[in-house]
Amino acid sequence: MTSTSPLKGAPTGVRPAVRAVPAYPFSPIQVPIKLDQNENPYDFPAELKAQALQKMLEQPWNRYPDLHADTLAAHIAEYEGWDVDGVVVTPGSNVLIKLLTELAGIEQTVLTVDPTFSVYTLEARMLGARLVQVPLNEDFSLPVDRLKIELERQRPGVLYITQPHAPTGHVDSVARVRELLDAAGEWVVVLDEAYYQYGGIDGRELVRQYPNALSLRTFSKAWGLAGLRAGYALAGADLATQLQKLVPAFNMSVLTQAALEVALKNPGYVQERVAEAVAERGRVQAALADHPTCQALPSQSNFFLLRTPDAEAMYRHLIDHGIVVRRQDHLTGLEGCLRVGIGTPAENDVLIGAVQALK
Ligand SMILES: *Cc1c(COP(=O)(O)O)cnc(C)c1O
Repeated sequence: MTSTSPLKGAPTGVRPAVRAVPAYPFSPIQVPIKLDQNENPYDFPAELKAQALQKMLEQPWNRYPDLHADTLAAHIAEYEGWDVDGVVVTPGSNVLIKLLTELAGIEQTVLTVDPTFSVYTLEARMLGARLVQVPLNEDFSLPVDRLKIELERQRPGVLYITQPHAPTGHVDSVARVRELLDAAGEWVVVLDEAYYQYGGIDGRELVRQYPNALSLRTFSKAWGLAGLRAGYALAGADLATQLQKLVPAFNMSVLTQAALEVALKNPGYVQERVAEAVAERGRVQAALADHPTCQALPSQSNFFLLRTPDAEAMYRHLIDHGIVVRRQDHLTGLEGCLRVGIGTPAENDVLIGAVQALK
């Protein structure tokens, strides 16, 4: 239900800000080739899954897990070369976005670009934060000067920056991001690095240098573990301590933690798959380069935008070929655009054939 006006007889205690926000815009479509959620097209390797199941069997299920997933946080800290006091783990990084908006957005400001990841804006609106969005530059780069003006002008709050950017796949230089951090003052600056493995910058160096900065990472994309629901923040100890207060106690299941410990001890598969996705991205984009009416826009992520003369027609055409992608043509500056995930080589072949068949 996405109704935004109060229904007759609807409960009255619901805050208007919540009622005014539409439900998360996603409806599943059952087709064989799923390129609509930027997932890894490959499942967690079977032998690691077996190890994880064994580990799950060994856990007591009657006991609560660690208060703050402490053991898992220690494994993440080791993997990332980070101080464990600066690691905060939650069931998906979208939970962290809600908590960061609670931490620094409520009664203050959420600042981001437009277009942007919809969770930043939905949470800002539901939690009653003041939301300010600055349009991306035409080439999808960060509007650094205009963001700096807003950082000056608004009260402090939280600034969300996505690198690589979603849904464009654009990456900015470290120097450009650093300009924002230098201007941020008291603002909390979130670098959402959901796709960092596929290209661009590694935000850890910046986060080390700026106590108000924080990196968000997830197991949902390159790790191929979206079904487990896990993400984490890397920050300085103080910011992490404040953020941790907002995380509900005992929030990570022992089963998820067991599986993630196996993944973190065997991360080699991630690199192989990222390399394949990057190579496939190049191959798909090259294969579509001579299309007379569509344009595959450059990307440094595991998805790219396909600009079409008629997004609705291409979307329907791809579904007829068993492929689902994500419409983005309603977003600012993305007229005609579909977001296409990189699949397996065989799936990408079907995609190329289908796009080439509609001229
Ligand atoms: C996919 C994605 C995430 C990850 O969300 P999870 O809740 O960890 O699955 C975060 N940020 C962006 C921009 C994403 O696209």
